Amino acid sequence: MKVELLPALTDNYMYLIIDKDTREAAIVDPVQPQKVVETVRKLGVKLTTVLTTHHHWDHAGGNEKLVKLEPGLKVYGGDDRIGALTHKVTHLFTLQVGSLHVKCLSTPCHTSGHICYFVSKPGGPDPPAVFTGDTLFVAGCGKFYEGTADEMYKALLEVLGRLPPDTRVYCGHEYTISNLKFARHVEPSNTSVQEKLAWAKEKYAIGEPTVPSTLAEEFTYNPFMRVSSSRALEGRGARPACRRFSPLQGEDGAAARGR
Ligand SMILES: [Zn+2]
Ligand SMILES: [Zn+2]
Repeated sequence: MKVELLPALTDNYMYLIIDKDTREAAIVDPVQPQKVVETVRKLGVKLTTVLTTHHHWDHAGGNEKLVKLEPGLKVYGGDDRIGALTHKVTHLFTLQVGSLHVKCLSTPCHTSGHICYFVSKPGGPDPPAVFTGDTLFVAGCGKFYEGTADEMYKALLEVLGRLPPDTRVYCGHEYTISNLKFARHVEPSNTSVQEKLAWAKEKYAIGEPTVPSTLAEEFTYNPFMRVSSSRALEGRGARPACRRFSPLQGEDGAAARGR
């Protein structure tokens, strides 16, 4: 499995997932279809599949145009509001991209139909990957537009948190630095937060992405993944953490743009 990271809009990521054995590929959230088509041509892969995390325009807004540019694509998603949808999926639905196995994980909260995609190649050498849209970010989580803190807790800890620890996390936005500044506020003495923030600032300075992380890493610095393993948040009277702290996530600009 190979994952090509394609920056889009201001701080979104599209991901081209390539099965190295068959050269078949899937694209996650192709908001800039022309860029997707150019990359597919350049790499000489066969694009068959669109995986849509949720219906917001900065994720699903390119679907209609992409299916015009590349007729015959299968478009997966968990919400009728997603453009050009051909296959509506539910929790634990599975599909194949070449020899890659894709499992759909329902994670309602940011939107009611949000799906994360867990991609693996059983017996293959590469670690699995999960495409988390606006549910799990590096060191943060998405805003609760259509759900509750309990739903986000379940999504992060009981669905995503139970995937293999070496799973690579590919999220929908580059929000890492502002998320880690918030994490530092929550746990000022957490050295994992401090180290990851210093690293993220270095990456930002040279124009490189901070994605992917791993699930094991997220458990060390993501305050929303640490509510069960650490008393830090509770000590601040903040349980459940997401409910108390989510408004601060607006600092990253997501709220202002209505994502
Ligand atoms: Zn978004
Ligand atoms: Zn969104």
